Amino acid sequence: MQKQKADLIIANAAQIVTCQGDQADSIGLITDGWIAIVGEKIAAVGDRETVLSQVDANQALVIDATNKVVAPGFVDSHTHAVFGGSRVREYAAKMTVSDPEKLKQLGIQTGVQVSVDMTRQASLEELFESAQSRLNRMLLAGTTTVEIKTGYGFNTLDELRMLDVNALLDQELELDVISTFLGAHGWPKDMAKEAYMDLVIDEMIPLVSERKLATFCDVWCEDSHFDAKESARILEAGLKAGLLPKIHTDAYSYIYGSDLAADMKVISADHLNYTPPAMMRKLAEADVPGVIMPALDFAVKHKKPFDARAMIDSGMTVALATDLCPACWTESMQFVMMLACRQYAMSPAESIRAATIGSAKALGLAHDRGSIEAGKLADLQIWDTPMYENVIYWLGTNVVEQVIKRGKVVVNQTRTPAQLAWH
Ligand SMILES: [Zn+2]
Repeated sequence: MQKQKADLIIANAAQIVTCQGDQADSIGLITDGWIAIVGEKIAAVGDRETVLSQVDANQALVIDATNKVVAPGFVDSHTHAVFGGSRVREYAAKMTVSDPEKLKQLGIQTGVQVSVDMTRQASLEELFESAQSRLNRMLLAGTTTVEIKTGYGFNTLDELRMLDVNALLDQELELDVISTFLGAHGWPKDMAKEAYMDLVIDEMIPLVSERKLATFCDVWCEDSHFDAKESARILEAGLKAGLLPKIHTDAYSYIYGSDLAADMKVISADHLNYTPPAMMRKLAEADVPGVIMPALDFAVKHKKPFDARAMIDSGMTVALATDLCPACWTESMQFVMMLACRQYAMSPAESIRAATIGSAKALGLAHDRGSIEAGKLADLQIWDTPMYENVIYWLGTNVVEQVIKRGKVVVNQTRTPAQLAWH
């Protein structure tokens, strides 16, 4: 039988973190590993002999990964990366002032409505360009797939415009962009909640579905937002229109949002700070992944951080995400993993799994990405270190040297400062 011609070979990696297998703490480590890529997919992974017995490597480009780690590209499964403006003044003021009244006196507006106003004011080009910068920095830090939600429109026109920006980003950038319609992120200040829900259900969802602009429909189920019954109504309307359900819930209250998540077997339940242990077991039984966002807890100084350890021990699949948004501006999954390990008792291996295969599962994409195995997309990153634990040990350092997206090298930071210097 003729062997497939490999296009790209990654040779001599000190460690390949394959993330194969379903043990929470297993990352399927291969030492002195090789990977063969054909087109946009992985053709073989293993030791030199195994890989070269399966492909013809004569014409392939070879990347020498001596003393490096190869890992799956990160999947960031929860972001609000498209938005107008910035809330840096609010974030900066909150470093020393916590009283909302005092912030008001300082002339500082707070909350989602501020971002809604700035997003409505921005042109499509401005929304695209600012998100493009953020997504390119994500790529430099190893993220190859990113989910982006709407929710700063609060009207049909602006919600659909956000989805148009997502489609443009997916088309123009190297990362894959997965779109979620989150019309029910709240409701506009000049409209009653009931009336806005009708607009979401009767107008927005049908248009999003008809124009095939999103994969998922999401809702914020919280005592200050939509209750479990209202959330169910919205998610069921989405489901009927072909949009799979996701939910923001239990972030600041427990009002049976996680019960709804388990009953509906949503694609993912996100936040979960107030989720009781019995509900964690129910989510595990329903095979609903929990998306947790350590950087958000950090940025808002959350008074009840989520319990990642209890979630993992209850059998849940845990996914990590940045939650990049105006209230939590991080583009780095590595920063999120550093927090997940130190603050939430996750092992380095668990944090890597949660940032790759766990997050892929939270987007319904575990069949084609999130781990390094033959047949999956060649979405890979090469770290400039021989030990994978350094990703959470070198605090604040970007370990990524090269990123491969769908078989193509899209980031290469191998040049040293000396090589970059002007002569
Ligand atoms: Zn969110």
